[in-house]
Amino acid sequence: MNNIKLSDRLQLLLEQVPEGSVLADIGSDHALLPVAAVQSGRAAAAIAGEVNAGPYEAANRGVAEAGLSRQIAVRRGDGLEVLEPGEADCITIAGMGGSLIAAILERGQKLGKLAGVKTLALQPNVGEDILRRWLLSRGWVLTAEHILEEDGKIYEILTAVPEGQAALTNEQLYSGRALAGGKVQCDQELLLQMGPWLLQSPNPVFAAKWQGEISKLETILSSLARSELAAAEEKRSKVMLQIKQIREVLECLPKDRL
Ligand code: SAM
Repeated sequence: MNNIKLSDRLQLLLEQVPEGSVLADIGSDHALLPVAAVQSGRAAAAIAGEVNAGPYEAANRGVAEAGLSRQIAVRRGDGLEVLEPGEADCITIAGMGGSLIAAILERGQKLGKLAGVKTLALQPNVGEDILRRWLLSRGWVLTAEHILEEDGKIYEILTAVPEGQAALTNEQLYSGRALAGGKVQCDQELLLQMGPWLLQSPNPVFAAKWQGEISKLETILSSLARSELAAAEEKRSKVMLQIKQIREVLECLPKDRL
């Protein structure tokens, strides 16, 4: 069988998997990522985890059709429950919300399933900041962030390793910093929201994402303006501050990269 051609999103995720990994792809659906990881030789072996019956069957079919049933185990279960501690050294979770990914990791960590895991490569569809907060609070350091647009949707990919195995500490990564010669000060909160690596190396997709966020916040602002609730005024001030901060950041991104 010919090698699988991945979407740009999954291809970029695959590139975060270290060579020679034993990969666990959780929420694998058709098992496209583990199949491509093993076919390309990037992963030595893989586990495809799925909680739902339909995607689990699809993963079984995908692996069997690729002739990789010996190298890829397809397992049905919730999150990291499908793993034995120490079994995988790289975990990918893609195509879910950031809060669901964080909940899967949290439950898994409590069950000891992150033992021996050297790399997490995560692609939340929304709620990237929730995932950054989870990583920060649980001793994982972001080593890379990517942002891309495909089929009209914007995706972020976050790669993290255990603190101590990264060149930077979380304290260094999230220490406040100035952008554009000191004109804008990014505090930890802004870095968690926008992404410390993405802010350091912004691209046009990053700028488009945050222009979109400004539009969403402006819509919220207009509906708050129509509200007579006492809390609306306080909320309005918060939203206005958020818009101002994002605008300031966008204004001082290096124009040659956008
Ligand atoms: N990872 C693939 C991708 O990015 O293209 C598939 C993403 S699909 C939108 C999300 C998949 O996650 C679904 O197949 C769903 O059944 C699975 N899923 C959701 N919650 C899960 C959980 N707690 N444990 C395992 N799989 C889960």
